Amino acid sequence: MDRPRIIIFDTTLRDGEQSPGCSMNVPEKLRLAQQLDRLGVDVIEAGFPIASDGDFEAVKQIANSLRRPVIAGLARACAGDVDRAWEALQGAAHPRIHIFLATSDIHLQYKLRITREECLAQAREAVRHAKTLCQDVEFSPEDATRTDVPFLCQVVEAAIEAGATTVNIPDTVGYSMPEEYGQLIRTLYEKVKGIDKVVVSTHCHNDLGLAVANSLAGVQSGARQIECTINGIGERAGNAAMEEIVMAMRVRPDRYPFETSIASEQLFAASQMLAEITRVPVQPNKAIIGRNAFAHEAGIHQDGVLKNPLTYEIMTPQSVGVPDSRLVLGKHSGRHALALRCEQLGHQFERRELDEVYRRFVILADRIKKVQDSHLLELIQDVSSGMVSNSEVSGHKRIFPPATANLSQPRAASVAAGAGSAETYSANAGPAQVTIPFSDHHTEQEDYLWGV
Ligand SMILES: [Zn+2]
Repeated sequence: MDRPRIIIFDTTLRDGEQSPGCSMNVPEKLRLAQQLDRLGVDVIEAGFPIASDGDFEAVKQIANSLRRPVIAGLARACAGDVDRAWEALQGAAHPRIHIFLATSDIHLQYKLRITREECLAQAREAVRHAKTLCQDVEFSPEDATRTDVPFLCQVVEAAIEAGATTVNIPDTVGYSMPEEYGQLIRTLYEKVKGIDKVVVSTHCHNDLGLAVANSLAGVQSGARQIECTINGIGERAGNAAMEEIVMAMRVRPDRYPFETSIASEQLFAASQMLAEITRVPVQPNKAIIGRNAFAHEAGIHQDGVLKNPLTYEIMTPQSVGVPDSRLVLGKHSGRHALALRCEQLGHQFERRELDEVYRRFVILADRIKKVQDSHLLELIQDVSSGMVSNSEVSGHKRIFPPATANLSQPRAASVAAGAGSAETYSANAGPAQVTIPFSDHHTEQEDYLWGV
């Protein structure tokens, strides 16, 4: 029997990018979108086109260059936002307009200052308008899990009547519990007319560490799309982590008999790329793709794993793309392979640092043919001590100076494209004091801190 397929909707480039320190410029977003495509993601939410010119440009370029996945652009429930999203999506092979509008009383009263009736009319009107432009329209009642349930049913029904093809039920503030969230999805199936004709989606935040559990509970109750991000990045404590959702279904099909189109062997690479682009490292004990996720230090564990990996491993490192530790590094190994091995050995490098490690690695590989981990560690140490003597960073555990010059370039470019209210961040580290203009459109335009 065919297992139901779950649509994986990635919002790393939209919700993920809204998290502190995770803003990306257009070329970075395009690069990550290409990796999401390799991963086999069904829907890529590429950005929030009206939020900034940079967001608009990113959505446009991604829409123009990726042909397989659906490309979604986010819009508030008003004509200006919807039109701008549609403009950005013009070149997409499979465009989707994603409209959101808060429905909880607390949001209606304090944020939007509108009544429930006005909310209902606005949702209906925005979806209707989007539908005149685009066949594929998603509607999200923001803060759905804190919305009065009968009213939520009413809004969802109105959105479906107006033409929404996907209805997403966001746990915007990460408040829900798994049984509760599952029950909410079931209630919607019971009460909302026409819901069997659309895709129901989950969008769970991780404020209580339950984003993945809630998403899975939603799927068990009939949801067929999960919104998630790489490394679980996103507003505040983040979103449901794609790698955890995908592998939970893959490792436990007895409990979650669903399919996804994700090529799990690409998960580690996607995670690494995101960490490198945003310079936000993955916590070492992060499930699935953390540095320690497949590390065995205790003797008894090591012994067991050597005899049979199943003693302590429920999935293989290869299944999520963690490189084989027996992989031999030689002079033909690329920078990427070297970076991955360095990472496995506990060393994460910024681009400039890696350049130096790579330069010396090539010289060494030319000499000794096969570079073992011990050689590499020695080399890293060597490079570190060389660089620390040139640096003023002392008493700091990090031995490489931060690559401040490197950092300033992509950020400066994004500032040039943004508004003029950039704060100035003075990085008092490295050989010279460098002033980095520090900007992020979400701090410039308070309005856009909203999201689902
Ligand atoms: Zn969100």
